[in-house]
Amino acid sequence: VLLARTVPIEECKKPTDGLTLFYTDFDRSRIEVREILKMGRHAVNSNQTFYDNLEVPVEHRIGEDGKGFRYILDSLNPERVLNAAECVGIGRRCLERAVKYAGERVVFGRPIGKNQSIQHPLAENWSELLAAELLTLHAAELYDSGEPCGAQANAAKYLAADAAFKAADQAVRTHGGMGYAAEFHVERYFREAVVMRLAPVSREMVLNFIAERELGLPKSY
Ligand SMILES: Cc1cc2nc3c(=O)[nH]c(=O)nc-3n(C[C@H](O)[C@H](O)[C@H](O)COP(=O)(O)OP(=O)(O)OC[C@H]3O[C@@H](n4cnc5c(N)ncnc54)[C@H](O)[C@@H]3O)c2cc1C
Repeated sequence: VLLARTVPIEECKKPTDGLTLFYTDFDRSRIEVREILKMGRHAVNSNQTFYDNLEVPVEHRIGEDGKGFRYILDSLNPERVLNAAECVGIGRRCLERAVKYAGERVVFGRPIGKNQSIQHPLAENWSELLAAELLTLHAAELYDSGEPCGAQANAAKYLAADAAFKAADQAVRTHGGMGYAAEFHVERYFREAVVMRLAPVSREMVLNFIAERELGLPKSY
């Protein structure tokens, strides 16, 4: 799927106008693909793409000319909800691993999980993940009912990504030095949790959206 500018920006009222959506063949004689090496998320590759004289027939256009960005927006809220659910899943897996390790690892004759300084952050992770899950379900319910859900979907993604990141960090720390070893998997979950705070929308952009749209604060641009 391609989103391309078809009307020069100077002729548009808003920068997001004048973009058109296409669903077309991936012609590798006209498109160069360069893979981006990255920290995690290796199940899906990410790429830079370069287009050189790619001709796209008009019948490959989706909807009306110049309205592509508006169509893309329709997919963003459910994607936020999906990402939030993914974060809750990553966070819960980290918590499960941390609890198991805390119960099994014995130092000075007792499991480290007997210490409240080990227990409390994990209990906090549990609470934050549950709160994020409830907001995720609320946003999903609004979306499924055809109600506006932009703020809720964004807030769910924001809270769930933070909760997942904290749970992953805590899982690594609960494992001590072993948290850094690949065999315990928490370092891998930690790397996955890092990207959830950045993409597909960063924490800052969620907060900008809520500040401007929900709170009615002046636009920052
Ligand atoms: C693994 C991976 C997969 C991705 N997959 C997709 C995908 O499938 N689809 C897709 O559309 N995108 C995808 N992205 C892109 C992702 O959405 C962007 O990287 C992200 O939105 C941040 O944009 P940027 O990288 O251009 O950062 P920049 O815009 O350069 O921002 C850099 C930093 O400055 C902050 N910042 C920028 N402007 C402001 C402001 N006005 N106020 C406060 N802070 C600000 C940002 O929050 C960020 O922390 C992916 C990224 C990664 C890493």
